Amino acid sequence: MKKTESTVCPYCEGNGYVQLLLGGSETCYCCSGKGTDSKNRK
Ligand SMILES: [Zn+2]
Repeated sequence: MKKTESTVCPYCEGNGYVQLLLGGSETCYCCSGKGTDSKNRK
């Protein structure tokens, strides 16, 4: 297991992209491909 302080994007699960049902992948618009949640919640 790897622990990261930054929150992993729940939408793409940290991949930075999402799998399309029709095939291929697209940059996650939730995190803009960063793979991490840009929101810093404390
Ligand atoms: Zn994402």
